[in-house]
Order: sequence, then structure tokens, then C-alpha cells
Amino acid sequence: MAGASLALLLAHHCPALQVSLLERHALPDSNAVLSLPSFDTRATAIAAGSLQIFDELGLWPALRAYAAPISRVDVSDRGHSMGASLNAARESEASFDGMLGAVIENAALGPLLYRALEKTRVDVLAPAEVGDVAMTADGAVLSWRAAGAKEADQQTLRTRLLVVADGTGSPLCRQLGIATQEVDYHQQALVATVGLQRDHAGVAFERFTDSGPMALLPLPRRDGIHRAALVWTCEQGDWERLASLPEDAFIGHLQQTFGWRAGRIVRAGRVQGYPLKLSLAREQVRRGLALVGNCAHFLHPVAGQGFNLTLRDCDGLARTIGRAMAGKGTDFGQAGPGELDLLQAYWRERQHDQQLTIGFSDRVPPLFASRSLLLSGLRQAGLLGLALAPALRSGFARQAAGLAL
Ligand SMILES: Cc1cc2nc3c(=O)[nH]c(=O)nc-3n(C[C@H](O)[C@H](O)[C@H](O)COP(=O)(O)OP(=O)(O)OC[C@H]3O[C@@H](n4cnc5c(N)ncnc54)[C@H](O)[C@@H]3O)c2cc1C
Repeated sequence: MAGASLALLLAHHCPALQVSLLERHALPDSNAVLSLPSFDTRATAIAAGSLQIFDELGLWPALRAYAAPISRVDVSDRGHSMGASLNAARESEASFDGMLGAVIENAALGPLLYRALEKTRVDVLAPAEVGDVAMTADGAVLSWRAAGAKEADQQTLRTRLLVVADGTGSPLCRQLGIATQEVDYHQQALVATVGLQRDHAGVAFERFTDSGPMALLPLPRRDGIHRAALVWTCEQGDWERLASLPEDAFIGHLQQTFGWRAGRIVRAGRVQGYPLKLSLAREQVRRGLALVGNCAHFLHPVAGQGFNLTLRDCDGLARTIGRAMAGKGTDFGQAGPGELDLLQAYWRERQHDQQLTIGFSDRVPPLFASRSLLLSGLRQAGLLGLALAPALRSGFARQAAGLAL
């Protein structure tokens, strides 16, 4: 998602730039009708600021057809009465098109991004696996080959700017000697699609429990079923036990932990687990090189910020290159988009947002999981502040929406 989004943004902000996107997997057939499963699907909460970015690319009308709008965010702390809520009507400065954000299934988002790429000049090479990478005085040289092709069929690509977006544990970063700083949370995010008895009415629930945060995000109704996407953070042992439960027992456990704010939970699809850690690349730019997406920063999914932060990075990078190209015209410097000054300018612009978003995702889960009376008092005071102080609530909403900067 990071690579495809950046390619679209580069095509939009730097139309004269020649961009190639290499993806190891074959792409979905663009003519095929998008038929999505009702269950067993992963979804991404897209914040209002990200919807604005997609809208500028002309993508929102296509995404809208597969999105469930978020009209309210309901934050609560299990075992305590104090809660807070953000409302699209009240937080209009943090909203887009009357919503605080929208939830889109990844099975729709990915193909829609690739379909949009077909309308650009971006050269999409897929399936194309990147092997060796070497940095040179002029940029980077990559060797790549199509899936299943022989060693001898290896091809070479030269570029003035290589943007690595190959996900967590990035082999390309390892090759380039870029170390990561990691914090293992020793937790798993348990992800499943659930069926609800009643309509979620566009409410995204964020509930903090002793074991960690839970989110229940609205999904579009499908096959007559009211659906929501569950992200449930739990300890490793709990995750194994929960994942092995039959559906009824799983639902019983979920209902007991989550409570009744979303009404009765009537179905649960296949449970998938994602190990949780914070992983930060120690460098995000070098001459001729930038990192975006999970290989640059992989966060706790507490507030659904990972992809939103990535999209803002991609937007920032494309705009920085676009501005430099517009200023320098055809004489765009020898290193072109790989110029170190330019990449450092991008990095300086993005640092503040990255620090805030990463800090929030790292610090909030332990604060809400703690049984300490002091921390419990602090988080209740925080929720009280959000409930009562419009300025604090509005600032929080704008940061969460990616519109604070
Ligand atoms: C449980 C969970 C819930 C989340 N929910 C949200 C949310 O609600 N909102 C939000 O904003 N974020 C969310 N996130 C974060 C979001 O999922 C990530 O930001 C997003 O997946 C970014 O992916 P990426 O493109 O960087 O990496 P990946 O998805 O890992 O993509 C890397 C790509 O690189 C390709 N690749 C790898 N190596 C090579 C190679 N050598 N050659 C060619 N291609 C290669 C792979 O095939 C793959 O397509 C969540 C994360 C988790 C774990």
C-alpha cells in the first residue's frame, strides 16, 4: 500500500518524473469485478486527512463505494464510567465530507490503488522481485527478475532515487546496512471480522482493557449482515487460547471483554494474528535513497495510524520533489530527486508528525493497560479533559485526523 500510494502521488505532483514500481506479487486483474468476502478480510481505518489526500488524487469516489464512514469515535476504559467521544458534526475541522474517517477493506483498497495507477505513466513491473541493490554516485542500481524466471533472466534498473517500501523486517534495508530500533510489545493483534445484530451507525469504538486496547470499526453492510472489523490486542498466551476457540465461545469471550456498546455480537470470522512491535529505521533518507511505509516505521495499531502516517510521508515526499522540479525546471540538478538536500528537507518536514504519532502509539497502550492507581487516575483525567475541554478535544481530533500540521 505504501509503494502504490507513493507512485500515485509522484504521478500527480511530479508528472514529468519517470517512475517505476516493482512488486513481487502478481497484481489483481483490473477488469475483474471486485467481489469481497463478508468475513475473513482485513480493513484499514483511513483518517480524514488521508481521505483528503485520496480525494486530491481523484480516488475518493471509487473508494467511497467500498468505505464505511466513521461519524463518531467512542473511547472508553473498561471498568470505569468515564469515556470520551469525537463527533464528526462537532469536530468539523477534523472531518472530511462529514466524516472523521472511513474504514476500507484492504481487499478493495489494494486493487483500487492499482487500477488508478493504470491511468498514470507509472511503469508497474509485477510480479518483479528485487534482488541485489547497490548505491552508486548517480543513485541506485537494482537487479530484479519476474517471479519464476531463471537467474540468467535477471534484469537491471538504474534510478536516481530508490524508495524502499518492502515492509517490516526489510531485506533491502538490511542489504543497505540500515539498522532498525525495535521494541517488542510481546503482544499480538487479533484481527477478525464480526457480525453485529444492529447497525453500528458509523461509530468506531476504541476500548481500553487490562490486556490492551480493542477497536471495533464500522464496515459496510454485506449480504444483509451488519459488520465490524475487530482489532483486539492481547498477550501471546491469550491470543493462542482465543484463536483456538470455536466461534460461539470466542464470541462469548469477546462480548464479555468488549461489553455491549455495539450491541450483540452474532458472528465472528477467521481469527488472524499479527505480532506487535515498534520498529523504526535508524535512517530514512540518504543520497539517492528514501524509506517509506512499514520498513521506515511499524507501529502499534492502537489508533489505526500506521498507514495514515505513511500516506502523509508519501504526500510530503512527492510534494517536496514536485516543488523542486517546478523551481528548477529541466535543470533539476544532477542527482535530481535523489539530491541529499532535497531528501533531508523532506525528512525535516516530516519529523514532527512522525514523532507525535509514533510517541502516541507507543505510550498510550501501556498507560491504559496499567492497573496502577496513579496511571488509572491520569487516564481518567485525560478522558475527562477530552470530554469537557473543546480545545483539547479539537486538537486531539485534528492530530488523529492527520490535519494538525
Ligand atoms: C493489525 C493491524 C491493523 C492495522 N490497522 C491500520 C489502520 O486501521 N489504519 C492504518 O492507518 N494503519 C493500520 N495498520 C498499518 C498498516 O497495515 C500498514 O501501514 C500498511 O500495511 C503499510 O504497508 P507497507 O506497504 O509499508 O508494507 P507491506 O504491506 O508489507 O508491503 C510491502 C510490499 O513489498 C513487496 N515486496 C517485499 N519485498 C520485495 C522485493 N524484494 N521485491 C519486490 N517487492 C517486494 C511485498 O510483496 C509487499 O507488497 C495496521 C497494521 C496492523 C498490523
